[in-house]
Amino acid sequence: MACTHIHGFPRIGANRELKFAQESFWRGESDDAYLRSVAQALRARHWEQQRAAKLDFVTVGDFAYYDPMLNLTALLGALPERFGFEPASLSLAQYYELARGNKAQPAMEMTKWFDTNYHYLVPELGPDTTFNGGVSWFFDEIDEALALNLPVKPVLIGPITYLWLSKSQTPGFDRLSLLPKLVIRYVRILDALKQRGIEWVQIDEPALCLDLEGEWLEAFSAVYDVLGASGVKVLLATYFDTAADHATLVAQLPVHGVHIDLIRAPEQLEVWRKALPADKVLSAGVVDGRNVWRADLGAIAGSLQTLHAERGDQLWIAPSCSLQHVPVTLASEKKLDAEVKSWLAFATEKLDELGVIALALRDPAAAQAQLAATDAALATRRSSSAVMNVLVQRKVATVTDAMASRKNPFEDRSRVQRHSLKLPLLPTTTIGSFPQTPAIRQARAAYKRGELRALEYLERMRAETATVVRKQEELGLDVLVHGEVERNDMVEYFAERLWGYALTESGWVQNYGSQCVKPPIIYGDVFRPEPMIVDGACYAQSLTDRLVKGVLTGPVTMLEWSFVRDDQPRTTTALQLALVIRDEVLDLEKAGIRIVQIDEPAFREGLPLRKSNWAEYLEWATRAFRIAAGGVSDATQIHTHMCYSEFNDILPAIAALDADVITIETSRSSMELLDGFGAFAYPNGIGPGVYDTHSPRVPSVETMQGLLERACEVIPAERLWVNPDCGLKTRGWPETEAALANMIAAARTLRQKLEAEHNGARAA
Ligand code: GLN
Ligand code: ZN
Repeated sequence: MACTHIHGFPRIGANRELKFAQESFWRGESDDAYLRSVAQALRARHWEQQRAAKLDFVTVGDFAYYDPMLNLTALLGALPERFGFEPASLSLAQYYELARGNKAQPAMEMTKWFDTNYHYLVPELGPDTTFNGGVSWFFDEIDEALALNLPVKPVLIGPITYLWLSKSQTPGFDRLSLLPKLVIRYVRILDALKQRGIEWVQIDEPALCLDLEGEWLEAFSAVYDVLGASGVKVLLATYFDTAADHATLVAQLPVHGVHIDLIRAPEQLEVWRKALPADKVLSAGVVDGRNVWRADLGAIAGSLQTLHAERGDQLWIAPSCSLQHVPVTLASEKKLDAEVKSWLAFATEKLDELGVIALALRDPAAAQAQLAATDAALATRRSSSAVMNVLVQRKVATVTDAMASRKNPFEDRSRVQRHSLKLPLLPTTTIGSFPQTPAIRQARAAYKRGELRALEYLERMRAETATVVRKQEELGLDVLVHGEVERNDMVEYFAERLWGYALTESGWVQNYGSQCVKPPIIYGDVFRPEPMIVDGACYAQSLTDRLVKGVLTGPVTMLEWSFVRDDQPRTTTALQLALVIRDEVLDLEKAGIRIVQIDEPAFREGLPLRKSNWAEYLEWATRAFRIAAGGVSDATQIHTHMCYSEFNDILPAIAALDADVITIETSRSSMELLDGFGAFAYPNGIGPGVYDTHSPRVPSVETMQGLLERACEVIPAERLWVNPDCGLKTRGWPETEAALANMIAAARTLRQKLEAEHNGARAA
């Protein structure tokens, strides 16, 4: 009988219980004991769900008070030295100081977990790092589960992935040199598991799905020759991409099983089938841990038949990766369209899917009813008029290559725009959103609850827009925005206005710490029944003589931050989104808006883990953006915006977007980004962010002027824009006004200086 198991369950809870308990603890409104009790209840509930779904194992160790990487750091005792905490007695309060910073120390760095939208805390390692002491939470949780008589399978992030995802605090320090010490600690951990009678431990090494080189790959033998002999059976888990190129290497390790992601890389099944000895467990990741669609259980069982015949009990059934990337349960969704709902499976529903697959393999007749129910739901999905929209299909059929290009090259456009827009040297602007005040949030909530009529709501939002426009005029910005006052979220707002998108009430997914996002679901052809932001932008423009820039979310970001349909290639969905945005941009142009910004903060996020797949992604993602932007005349200036990513390795693709201007966050990468833009000779307009909008700190005029002067060294002043790093939505008004006033002063000073130099040169 094929065993069933998961890698991890969403920790936040169906009602985001963990988030609220954390935040109350941070505010000092509740103590340690309360937070621990909430956490314990959540774990117990999630284990009970796994037991009730009759999984063969209950996964323990996937819980974290903030982040699993931070938990592992706390377990290993490898705390960043700068905090001066004692590893063995780390309190929850101190744990959170690591995650969020304290008066003396900034927080540990946070970065994206592989190609997901989840962010982990980056361990800080150096030659003096030791792996001694540390908290006992991991073992406490195992004991908690054992006390409930559950079939416990602990999960740990593996030592190689841990080191790979860490950073060295000392320049030139080789993290891998810590491996021997780290392995000794893992051996001790596995010993402690053995003493508890644990049979299997899952060790996650998703790093094996990256482009790993020489000594990093060699490290696998060094580590697993030791850990494989520990007396606890090791399931080595890979996910997020193929690990097939390392199958021979892994097959030789003395581990007892391997997990592979067959959603991301189904083709690797054959490789592993042949490479992995038959007495080893092959855990097949066949239920999508990254998406919300109901699995085709019959087809999955069918595809595993040969493997099952060959391997019997040594075949395990699992989701592709941890279920933390999908919402907790469909049961909370009361408003979701019933038909769409029948096509979905969130974490809770996916638990049941595993059991049906296992049953279908063992006793197809017994699984008949469940398979038939799934088939019926999937059949309605295939034939539903909600999915296929002829208007969209017709439009897609008319797409030509010419649509992916502006009419003329940048030099020509910029000449036209210089004449028509009449902007000063170093024009100042913002990224789009302004502070979302409590009044705005309250009005939106009241409107959603039905307590505010549509017209009243519109009037309130217009009043807010008017305030934002007036403040921008008073500050003296050159290009204004309407402030995104009515936008709750830059993806959800548009999703609510498009056909083919469904929104959930409680489909929360942890983004980092207590922060959750509710990605909308694209289930059908994406269609725009009417303009989405034209009214707001035009209203703002009607209030001022200055130029108002229309701001909307680009096709790649709409795709990346949604759950995307799996019944057609992502590229097709991206194209549909591109056409929708293109029409909106054209409507803005028609309505007299002369600058349009198409935000693509997630452009870099879509980049595949393997470099060999980059070119293909960049090709279609770039094309989607270019189609969105390509309809307008030369005189309309297209901006794009990107932030919080590593840009230097994709600069040619960013240039290929051919936006007239890119505003881009630089506070995180600081000069590095400018170096990249200088070396690559970025051809169009660029606004490197001159201050960090994620902090309430107000930078001085001198600081920002200094940054601008440095920018002038690599980017010709005629192409330089002045703006903050990102939107101002999370900021308060006082710091926003102060920072923008300084930013504008810096731009003006430098402008005068450059103009004086220019005139001087002319006179001479
Ligand atoms: N226009 C958006 C804003 O200003 C951009 C947000 C983002 O880049 N994440 O809020
Ligand atoms: Zn941004």
